[in-house]
Amino acid sequence: MTILFKGKIICGYCKKKHVHKNERGRIKYICSHYNRKSGNCVRNLISQDQIMELMELKFRRLLSKEEIDSVVDYIEVTEDKIQINFYEEKEVILSNTYGQF
Ligand SMILES: [Zn+2]
Repeated sequence: MTILFKGKIICGYCKKKHVHKNERGRIKYICSHYNRKSGNCVRNLISQDQIMELMELKFRRLLSKEEIDSVVDYIEVTEDKIQINFYEEKEVILSNTYGQF
């Protein structure tokens, strides 16, 4: 599986970058600060599928890694909110409706 959002996801609590994990064939990202033994943050898990669903809603198709790299500035995540910030537009995608993970 391709890591689509490497370096683009930051933790909404500590503002550090998320790191990816492969959990049973699915790419997930968690707070790198939490991931360290000394880390003092929450796990703040987000799956790549969740982000891709939001991207698909906006673009009405699946974007390639190259396209994602060129349009997505950064994504800020908390446990009840995903905020996707784009380079070209002021617009952000905001989701607080997930919870199935
Ligand atoms: Zn954090």
